[in-house]
Amino acid sequence: MGIIENMRLDGKKGFVTGAARGIGKCTATAFAEAGADVAIVDLDIETAKKTAAEIAEKTGRKVIAVQCDCTNEEQVNQMVATVVKELGGLNFCHNNAGICINAPAEEMTYAQWLKVININLNGIFLTDIAAGKYMLANGGGSIINTASMSAHIVNVPQPQCAYNASKAGVIQLTKSLAIEWAKRGVRVNCISPGYIGTDLTLSSPSLIPLIEKWNAMAPMGRLGKPEELESICVYLAGDTSSFTTGTDVVVDGAFTCF
Ligand code: NAD
Repeated sequence: MGIIENMRLDGKKGFVTGAARGIGKCTATAFAEAGADVAIVDLDIETAKKTAAEIAEKTGRKVIAVQCDCTNEEQVNQMVATVVKELGGLNFCHNNAGICINAPAEEMTYAQWLKVININLNGIFLTDIAAGKYMLANGGGSIINTASMSAHIVNVPQPQCAYNASKAGVIQLTKSLAIEWAKRGVRVNCISPGYIGTDLTLSSPSLIPLIEKWNAMAPMGRLGKPEELESICVYLAGDTSSFTTGTDVVVDGAFTCF
């Protein structure tokens, strides 16, 4: 078989968190297009169900929706058990659910700080560990985390210290797990997207005036599209990336190059 056939995910099972919409919806679609059965995991179960039906219709794969708050350990463990039972196994996952709260550091409440760290970092820890435990005991697997270019640079002009710190944590968590599990068949990588046009960026009225400023700073002069993250995630999920672990792939149109 050629390289493109080998990149396919036929027969594999996986889940994507924060997949009801945005980046997660896009990668879940790509995984299913590549031949995998996929679980759409999200807090928002109504949208997740619609997304699952849409992807199943488009790809002909088994696509299920599972409600889960990724900050709740019990729900995360239950979610992984449900995915394994419903799909018949777990070969890969994309742990992607995240939020951003913009506030000047001296005005940010501790509750706001905790909320961001809890979803973006603690939630990734819980889902990585729950999936990793299953994979370690069942022949290995591939875990992809969503970090951000905000792990590498401090975004301006908006103040978002909790987000930046949470995403830097995701990269070091990714590398730490990759080292711990390297000889046991579980690979852990992350992606660091630049500004991407999703509901997170486009639906928040306070961010709209910022987009022009970001585009003026961007070497390509535009936001990325969620679809532009699909191919790297399919690669990381599948077997052709067998020597790729502990890596952070920056997909930002060169935003962090200067
Ligand atoms: P989005 O807001 O469009 O989608 C996020 C999804 O996560 C939503 O469906 C939401 O319901 C779900 N979610 C939120 N909290 C959850 C929880 N506790 N448990 C389960 N699901 C939860 O966001 P997006 O733009 O698609 O971003 C996805 C990821 O990509 C986030 O981690 C974000 O930080 C990261 N990212 C986004 C951008 C960007 O510019 N959009 C850039 C870099 C990184």
